[in-house]
Amino acid sequence: MHIGVFADIEGSFGIWRMRQCRMGTREWQYGRSCLTKDVNHVIQGAFDGGADKVTVKDTHEVGFNCLINKLDPRARYIGGHYIKPSLFGKITDLDLVLYVAIHAASGTDGAFFPHTHYGIFSEVRLNGKRVCEMDIYGAYLGELGIPIGFVSGEYIAVKQAIEALPWAKSVIVDKRKETYASGEKSFRYLKDGRALLRQTAQEAARHASRMQPLVIPGPLHFEAVFRTRQLADKFNTWDFKQTGERVEWDSENMIDGFEMLNKLTFFPQKIYPVRRPLTFFMRNYFRIKSTWFAPKPNPEEAAEG
Ligand SMILES: [Zn+2]
Repeated sequence: MHIGVFADIEGSFGIWRMRQCRMGTREWQYGRSCLTKDVNHVIQGAFDGGADKVTVKDTHEVGFNCLINKLDPRARYIGGHYIKPSLFGKITDLDLVLYVAIHAASGTDGAFFPHTHYGIFSEVRLNGKRVCEMDIYGAYLGELGIPIGFVSGEYIAVKQAIEALPWAKSVIVDKRKETYASGEKSFRYLKDGRALLRQTAQEAARHASRMQPLVIPGPLHFEAVFRTRQLADKFNTWDFKQTGERVEWDSENMIDGFEMLNKLTFFPQKIYPVRRPLTFFMRNYFRIKSTWFAPKPNPEEAAEG
């Protein structure tokens, strides 16, 4: 069984503020170490539950957040974004995905750093209903026959994810600063929380056959509402139907619809023909930058569990 551990960062144990998720900051160095510990526990759980191969796919921002030299060496690591299959790269041989450190959908009141796919959108809708990333990524992976069987993140993010993926196992992660900055109590919370990641990932892997690929039958109608009209004008170089800040498109299935979302988000029409060498360059640039030229970590006055 080949398990993919997909990593976002917002929902990591130990992370309570936005700068800890912002690439290039000292606080992000702290956040990366939090995420790497979470991911390692999930990798361990995957192996405990019967995986014979584990691949980590780093997905947040440009896709280099895990500290590669601290990652469990048994897992293969894929950093950065790809164009084929859209965004995630070669993942078609995965049997199950465990999604670590997720966040809530754009427009979720009171949530920690809520967004869907990218910060430019104030809401993304599918067939008229507001969706979170687990709806979109889940259905995309689902069309490739791959179920998501595990999520971790704050309560509201997990709740939204479970509405899309009712079979998935989950771990809820606190996002309050006081949880992580109170000495001995924080150590214990982190230790217990990560032990639960491992145990829950193991259960998900052991019950892999009960996990279902999420399939949302087409035709699909997408609506991406940008935060401002100016952003919509700037990003919609594709002449998708646009009304003010809302951009819409239709697709027969999620694989095509997701490709169109990625066109809108990452590739202006002029750049699209050179996206392959461009993403190749970006991956190598950010791999080197985040590995060798990362800032010194800010300890964030947190308990380092
Ligand atoms: Zn993220």
